[in-house]
Amino acid sequence: MQKLRILFQNNREWVKIKIGKDPDYFRKMAEAQDPKYLWIGCADSRVPANEIVGLEPGELFVHRNVANLFPHTDFNCLSVLEYAIDLLKIEHVIVCGHYNCGGVKAAMEDHQLGLVDNWLRNIRDVHARFKEELEAIPDPKERFDRLVEFNVLQQVLNICHTTIAQKAWMRGQALCVHGWIYDLATGALKDLDCCISSIDQIEDIYRIRTNFI
Ligand SMILES: [Zn+2]
Repeated sequence: MQKLRILFQNNREWVKIKIGKDPDYFRKMAEAQDPKYLWIGCADSRVPANEIVGLEPGELFVHRNVANLFPHTDFNCLSVLEYAIDLLKIEHVIVCGHYNCGGVKAAMEDHQLGLVDNWLRNIRDVHARFKEELEAIPDPKERFDRLVEFNVLQQVLNICHTTIAQKAWMRGQALCVHGWIYDLATGALKDLDCCISSIDQIEDIYRIRTNFI
């Protein structure tokens, strides 16, 4: 007996709907992808990237992990970014966090969870960096929301600090890195207005030197 039968049933229905609208849908899909955006989001099941921004398969290049992190030593993140920028020539990278993020919450608490604590350490670094501003917020919910936002801003910077992003700017390739937040309670996206689109917006210490190119 087939396991998870309902999911296969859903799949057959989905295929039928797609082909009903366009008989060539899967033939075209199999040929190539041409996404205009890279989405770096949380693995949380309530944040389905394509659906939130109304994009079809093939239109959004997606990388998701716990708490939408982009650690500069993570080869998974770096490989996705390199492929998106160098090969797909994607011009817009979006880091999208979300309020009530379990990963961010866990990083604010004292419990030990296991291996994931090492991953969440990245958020503790963000917390330490913005400690003063966070501790000045008396309301715990508001403080939590603000850390979610700071975490996104830090990941935007981490992306911009990579050799991948900076080499793209140096060769004149258009690239803009955005920071957004998704509100689970309303479905609305919020732009943190931190779009970084040139090397001049990067702190000098993180800039790569031209002899690296
Ligand atoms: Zn999350």
